[in-house]
Amino acid sequence: MKIIKEKIKKLKEEKNAIILAHSYQNIEVDEVADFVGDSLYLSQKAKETNADIIVFAGVYFMAQTAKIISPEKKVLLPNLKAGCLMADMINHEQIVNFKKTHSGIPVVCYINSTAEVKSECDICCTSSNALEIVKSLNCPQVLFIPDANLGKWVEKQLDGEEIIAYDGNCPVHNNITTEDIKKARTNYPEAKILIHPECKPEVSALGDYVGSTSGIIDYVKNSTDKLFVIVTEKGVADRLKRDYPEKQFVLIKNDMLCESMKLTSLEEILYSLENEVNEITLDEEVRRLSSNCIERMLEVSKK
Ligand code: SF4
Repeated sequence: MKIIKEKIKKLKEEKNAIILAHSYQNIEVDEVADFVGDSLYLSQKAKETNADIIVFAGVYFMAQTAKIISPEKKVLLPNLKAGCLMADMINHEQIVNFKKTHSGIPVVCYINSTAEVKSECDICCTSSNALEIVKSLNCPQVLFIPDANLGKWVEKQLDGEEIIAYDGNCPVHNNITTEDIKKARTNYPEAKILIHPECKPEVSALGDYVGSTSGIIDYVKNSTDKLFVIVTEKGVADRLKRDYPEKQFVLIKNDMLCESMKLTSLEEILYSLENEVNEITLDEEVRRLSSNCIERMLEVSKK
């Protein structure tokens, strides 16, 4: 393993490459990654970098996003089978039909979607900035795709504006029930319960904090509490255990993991970087339209 890591680091220097890794990745990926974080953070890093090659340790839509905003760079996805169950719940035809049945209403697109779907939407969002993005539209009704849970969670925090959400979800988060949270409260009464808004809104409503993976990590960093129940993908709990050994973390369910996120191995990172294979390519018109959707989000988010 040490030899593989050394080889990757050497190749990164030789090829002026960087590795972006999502917080749900296998934890050993961090040792070769330049940046680790959530979708918004990684999108910003993809945009800022002067690297010639971006290796994306994440899932397909994330690598696509990097390519959309950095078309001049070579973007590699080490394992092309790393998809996203939520992103796969809506395709180009389905977004076109959804818009037709709600014509004239702006569409906010969660970043967990394909480039083809983004190309049909007005503005993108992540779980870090979804509320801010919806508010920035200043409209009484907003279409939200594909995550109904996140859309409805945002709606609860608005001043009466309506979110018309597409019927998609992340099965990893959607499987968590209110009973799971109540059980955790009983078993760990002194713990803070930190929940990702891809969970059902009634589940999120029971948390001490609801936020993106970066938000959850920041909450722990700034908290004087010692015990936390983590209600998101296992990779976040693994990183928190590593980074805060003086605190205790309980993953809400041991099997709360995204299989796609765990497909990327160090061997595959090495292979794709060495041979410059598994490159992400996009139709230029789709790239241009989806870029507008993402750039608009980045503009709102940096204000
Ligand atoms: S955790 Fe859910 S939303 Fe995230 S990549 Fe996996 S399937 Fe997609």
